[in-house]
Amino acid sequence: MIIAIDGPAGSGKSTVAREVAKILGFHYLDTGAMYRAVSWLALERGIALDDAEALGDLAASERIEFAHEEGNPIATGVSIAGNDVTDAIRTPEIDKAVTPVSATPSVREALVEQQRAIAASDDIVMEGRDIGTVVFPDAEVKIFLTADADERARRRSNQNLTQGYGETDTEAILADLKRRDEADSTRAVAPLKPAPGAVEVDTTSLSIEQVCKCITDIVDSVR
Ligand code: C5P
Repeated sequence: MIIAIDGPAGSGKSTVAREVAKILGFHYLDTGAMYRAVSWLALERGIALDDAEALGDLAASERIEFAHEEGNPIATGVSIAGNDVTDAIRTPEIDKAVTPVSATPSVREALVEQQRAIAASDDIVMEGRDIGTVVFPDAEVKIFLTADADERARRRSNQNLTQGYGETDTEAILADLKRRDEADSTRAVAPLKPAPGAVEVDTTSLSIEQVCKCITDIVDSVR
């Protein structure tokens, strides 16, 4: 079974998707980490962020791997071309670079192919912006998470404080979330929007447990 969870930055996707995967014993894939990893490598190699051909080649040729602790289907780290970039992809610099990189059609083509391959044999919860619209339009369960922008900025700040990396200033985070929402929603290829048939859940005043329950109830109803 494939559970597609899409939504804007800070809507709770990662936390909820991980939790739902744990509850159901499914695998979990953070597709945003893949776009971030390619962005990191492009900066590292000095590739111009408007060089679509070079970015596409990079995404198609360099391996992105997720690190798993034994017996845990939820990845604890990500690497690209042999570099552990788990922390490095969460910086404000990557928050900015990922916008042009993820709007590049050849990059999306390469990563969508990998995402489909990863899901080929397992039950999986996959989160991103285009999982229900492009990657798996026939997913059995499609969820679109939203939340007020202020609440999303507050959550992201707390998350970064806890993790010990990334921006923590709420105003700076809010400005970046709004910029990314606008760019992600208006880009020509795979724009962020609810997939046909997706259940929209506004998480602003819901706890993580409540959102997970809502999703696992939907899973139970289609099983
Ligand atoms: O999920 P996260 O905020 O880490 O994603 C970083 C960026 O990657 C998003 O702002 C978006 O531009 C891009 N992305 C995407 N498609 C996905 C996942 C992420 O375009 N499926």
